[in-house]
Amino acid sequence: MSLSAIEKANTPEDFNELKTKTPPTNSVGFGAIKSAVQQASKYMNAVEAFKVSLKINQKGGFDCPGCAWPDPDDDRSVFGEYCENGMKAMAEEVQKKIIGSDFFAQHSVDELAAMTDFEIGKSGRLGSPMFLAEGATHYQSISWEEAYAKVGKHLNNLNTPDEAVFYTSGRTTNEAAFLYQLFVREYGTANLPDCSNMCHEASGKALSETLGIGKGSVTLDDLYKAELVIVIGQNPATNHPRMLTALEKCKKNGGKIVAINPLPEAGLIKFTNPQSPYKMLTGGTKMADVFAPVTINGDVALFKAILLQLLQKEETEGNIFDKEFIKDHTSGYDAFILDLKTYDFNECVALSGVSEEIIQQIVSLVLSTDKIIICWAMGLTQHQNAVDNIREIVNLLLLKGSIGKEGAGTCPVRGHSNVQGDRTVGIWESAPQAFLDKIENKYGFKPTTKHGYSVIEAIEGMYKKEAKVFFGLGGNFLSAAPDTNYTAEALSNCNLTVHVSTKLNRSHLVTGKEALILPCLGRAEKDYQKSGEQIQSVENSMGVVSSTKGILDPCSEDLKSEVSVVCNIAYETLKNRTKINWLSYADDYSLVRDDIEEVVNGFDNYNSKLKQPAGFYLPNGARVRDFKTNTGKANFSLNKLPNWKLKEGELVMMTIRSHDQFNTTIYGLDDRYRGIFNERRIIMMNRDDMLAQNLEEQQIVNLQSVFNGVTRKANNFKVIGYDIPKNCCATYFPETNVLVPLDSYAHTAKTPSSKSIVISVIKK
Ligand code: SF4
Repeated sequence: MSLSAIEKANTPEDFNELKTKTPPTNSVGFGAIKSAVQQASKYMNAVEAFKVSLKINQKGGFDCPGCAWPDPDDDRSVFGEYCENGMKAMAEEVQKKIIGSDFFAQHSVDELAAMTDFEIGKSGRLGSPMFLAEGATHYQSISWEEAYAKVGKHLNNLNTPDEAVFYTSGRTTNEAAFLYQLFVREYGTANLPDCSNMCHEASGKALSETLGIGKGSVTLDDLYKAELVIVIGQNPATNHPRMLTALEKCKKNGGKIVAINPLPEAGLIKFTNPQSPYKMLTGGTKMADVFAPVTINGDVALFKAILLQLLQKEETEGNIFDKEFIKDHTSGYDAFILDLKTYDFNECVALSGVSEEIIQQIVSLVLSTDKIIICWAMGLTQHQNAVDNIREIVNLLLLKGSIGKEGAGTCPVRGHSNVQGDRTVGIWESAPQAFLDKIENKYGFKPTTKHGYSVIEAIEGMYKKEAKVFFGLGGNFLSAAPDTNYTAEALSNCNLTVHVSTKLNRSHLVTGKEALILPCLGRAEKDYQKSGEQIQSVENSMGVVSSTKGILDPCSEDLKSEVSVVCNIAYETLKNRTKINWLSYADDYSLVRDDIEEVVNGFDNYNSKLKQPAGFYLPNGARVRDFKTNTGKANFSLNKLPNWKLKEGELVMMTIRSHDQFNTTIYGLDDRYRGIFNERRIIMMNRDDMLAQNLEEQQIVNLQSVFNGVTRKANNFKVIGYDIPKNCCATYFPETNVLVPLDSYAHTAKTPSSKSIVISVIKK
C-alpha cells in the first residue's frame, strides 16, 4: 500500500452529519441496556446472546476480552457480570460474518485501506490464513503449514534475531504469552514490545521505584471499604464500566469520591446501576463529591498544592501525617518535605487550573481519613512527566499511611484484559536477570541479557531498516501507535509483517514486502487440542489470576489458538536447534502452566489453583507493606512541576476514546456520554478559545503539531465547543495519533505522550 494512500485514508474529505447535544449528567441505566441489546442482536441470535451473557466473567466461564476490571471474589451477579462495552466487544467477536479468500479477492489492500477504521473493523471475523505476496495487490489464501514455514524462513534469513520485532497486545492469555516470550528468547532476541509500553509503563516504573512492585496494591474489596477514592485521569463509564458498581458500593458504605479530570465525565457525575430496579426508578447514585477540572497535565501542580496544605496543617496541628508508618516503612521523608517547601502554593494552584476552593474541599476530605485509594489511567500515564505524576500521588498516600492496609492504596486500572498478565509471565523487553536465569536453568539456553525494543524503539528500528520482520500477536499496532505516517513507513520497510488476529484492522493493510494474516480463536470460542478441551488464564488489574474457557463453537474451522500458532512457528523456526518440545505444549496447555509455575514467582500449584472458582491472588509486597525497593522501604520522591510555555493560539491536545470504542476498535460513531453523535473527526475546544480564534461551532479546520522541528498535520476536523479548561482540547484516537511525535514520550518509561501534545488549529 503506498504511503500517500495512508495519508489520504487519514484525511477523508467527507463528514457524516455531526449531531451534538448537551452532555448527560448521568450514565449507564436504560441507555446502556438499549445499546448492549442493540449490539448483541446485530451479531448474535437470542440463544448465543443468552449463553454469552450467562457465562461472561462468571466462575468457570470466559473472561471478557475488554478491559481488566476484576470480577467479584464472592458472589457474581446472576443478571450478568458484564457491561455495555463488554457486550459490544463480545458481540463483534462471536459474529458469524466470516471473511476469507472471496472477500480478499474482491477487495484490494489499497481499497480496504482507504476505508475508515470503523468501516474496516466491520468487515467481519477472519476465517482463514491469508498471504500478500511481494508486489501483489490482493491477499490470497495460504495453508497454515505454508504460513508457518514462511515465517520460519524469514526469521532464519535475518542477519541477527534482533532484526525481528515480536509485539504483544493485552488480550493474549498467560499461556500464549509465556510461550511467545520463551520462543522469542530461544530465537535469540528480547524485542518484545507490548501494549503496556503505550499505556501503564509509566505506572510500572513509578510504582516499582516507590513501592517495589509495578502493579496496584488494592483489591476490589478495598474499594468497597475505602473512605475516600480519588479517580484521576480516568473515564470509568467508558473504559472500565463495572468500576462504577464498585464505586457505588463504596458510596453506599459511606465513602467519598473525588474526580480529577479536564472533562466532566458523565460516569463520575452520576451512575444508574441497571441491575438495581430501585436505582433505575430513582435516577441513580451521585458519584463524585468533588470534581476538579484540572488543566491537561496540571496533576503534579494540583497534588503539590494539596500536599502543601497538608504540610501546613501537620506543622500547625500535628496528627495529619501517619508518622509511625513514615518512620517504620518509608525512606526519603526529610528530603521530600524540604523539596516540597520550595514550592509556592498559589503558583501550584494557578498551574493546576483548579480553584483554591475546590482544592480546599479535596484537602478536607484527605484530612478526614487514611483509608484513601487513588485510581488512575492514561490521563496520568501518557505525558512526558508521567512517572513524576504517579510518584507524586504515591507521596500523598505515604504521608497518610494509606498503603498496605484495608481500604487504602494504589489502583492503576488496566485497559486490556490481560496486559498485566502478559508482563507477569515474561512479555518484557527489559526483563530482570533473575527471570532470565530461571529461563536458562529450566530450558538450558542462555537468553540474551541485551534489552530489547519497546514500542517506540521498535518503530524507530523498522523505520531505519534495522528491524526487518514485524510479528504482532493480537492488537492493531499501527492504529495504536503514535506518529501514524512515520509508523506506517516503518512497517512498510519490513520484509514481512505478520498479524495473529480475530478481525480485520488497519495494521493488516499497511504491510511489509510480504504479509500474513493468521486468524485465531476468540475468547468465547471453544479450544480443542489433542488432550481435549483447553482452558487458559488471565490476570486482572488487581493481580487475580483466573481461568477462561470458551463456550461457543469457533466461527470457522480454520482458526487456530494463539498457543498453537506460537508453538508451530517456534517449531518451524527453531526445529534444528531447539531444546524445547514445542508441539507438546500445543496439545496440552497444563504443561505450559507447569513451566510457568517453575519460572515465574507466585504460580505455585498453578493448575490446581486455577480450578478455584474465583482463581487466586498473586503475591503483592505493597499490599502487605513488604516494599521490595532499593531501600527496602516505600520511597518518597521529588517531582518537578511541568513547564508549559504555549505560544498564542496554541493548545494542549489530549487524545481520548469515545464511548463506542475500545482501544482502536470502533464499535460505532457515537459518544453518547459527551453528547456527540455520528462523527469522530471532531475537536472539543473551550468556548473562550473558540471565540479568541474566531471559530464557529462545527467549523472545519486542520490541526498541526510542531515538535523538534517536525510539522505533523491532521486535516478536516469539526470544532465543537465543550466544557474543557482553557488552552486545552480533546480529539479521538486513532484519528489524531498522526499528530503525536514518536520522540515525545514519558521520561524513562517511553510511553507516548498522547495526552499532552501542543497543537495549532488552522482555519481552512
Ligand atoms: S468492565 Fe471491562 S472487563 Fe468488565 S465487562 Fe466491561 S469491558 Fe469487560
